[in-house]
Amino acid sequence: IKKIAVFTSGGDSPGMNAAIRSVVRTCAYLKVECLAIYRGYQGMIEGDFVPMDARSVNNIINKGGTILKSARCDEFRTKEGRQKAYDQLVAADVDAFVVIGGDGSFRGAQIFNEEFGFPVMGIPGTIDNDIFGTRFTLGFDTALNTVVEAIDKIRDTASSHNRLFFVEVMGRDVGHIALNAGVGAGAEEVLIPELDLGLERLLESLKRSKKSGKSSSIVVVAEGDKTGKNVFELKEYVESHLPIYDVRVSVLGHMQRGGSPSCFDRVLASRMGVKAVETLLEGKSNLMVGIIDNEIVLTPISEAIKGHTKIDHELIRVSDIMTT
Ligand code: ATP
Repeated sequence: IKKIAVFTSGGDSPGMNAAIRSVVRTCAYLKVECLAIYRGYQGMIEGDFVPMDARSVNNIINKGGTILKSARCDEFRTKEGRQKAYDQLVAADVDAFVVIGGDGSFRGAQIFNEEFGFPVMGIPGTIDNDIFGTRFTLGFDTALNTVVEAIDKIRDTASSHNRLFFVEVMGRDVGHIALNAGVGAGAEEVLIPELDLGLERLLESLKRSKKSGKSSSIVVVAEGDKTGKNVFELKEYVESHLPIYDVRVSVLGHMQRGGSPSCFDRVLASRMGVKAVETLLEGKSNLMVGIIDNEIVLTPISEAIKGHTKIDHELIRVSDIMTT
């Protein structure tokens, strides 16, 4: 392997730039050529390539988003699209690629590898932490810090006005952001997709905390939670069943995806980038780099895309105890 391409795909997340930097610098260190692909699979199909050297990635470790841009690309889902992408890579003498993205991006890489025998490696970049084979995805830690900071601010206004706030956070169909940020921000309740607590329990818990003298409450709601109600419907439900509360809603939205990556995400990205390049040079392929028990580990992409990292039940228990 003499030339490795790197790109970001799917939703962006903080830490992607640090991972790009790591891949580029590891290539330079190991004297392998490196090529950046702009706009994910779309740029691959169009041949939107730029050669990278160690200096091309100066001053990006601290930046959110991705300097290579990200894109969703329907053409890559077709055989013809992938053939175009393959032809572009061959024309540019690329021998392997590292994709930084989520499970959809990995699925695309796996199909590409099966069709053309092209070596691929994955680095998990998504704030949702929803990829099997790694305890942490790039951007998750930063997103938690962003969410906790936002909830701290909401708490200031909530306690000044004796309000109950429903705060909706991202995470798609998993509750990692909600549970961790909920514990970190001292939420009253956390509603996550993995556990259906039922609305009755929510009302009971809110009643109890009001009785016990709490002046304000924060309920963190994962966007994929199981109540069957969105945050605005939850507000109406609680207001009609429990008129003691003045209820407000805050949907944090895309701010959770932005910002300068935390030190944890920068270090993780640096470690993952080194491992991705080294593994390709060892002749291995179709693997995702992850971190488990603070060890950098490899998981077949086929397994990584099958499931999610399980929700932490010990943390659910801690959350329950903290809301007493
Ligand atoms: P995020 O977790 O932020 O959504 P993702 O990587 O899962 O990131 P997707 O939009 O699912 O984001 O996938 C990114 C791109 O990967 C798609 O736009 C498409 O080009 C490619 N891709 C996804 N699934 C497939 C597939 N089954 N076959 C081929 N390509 C795919």
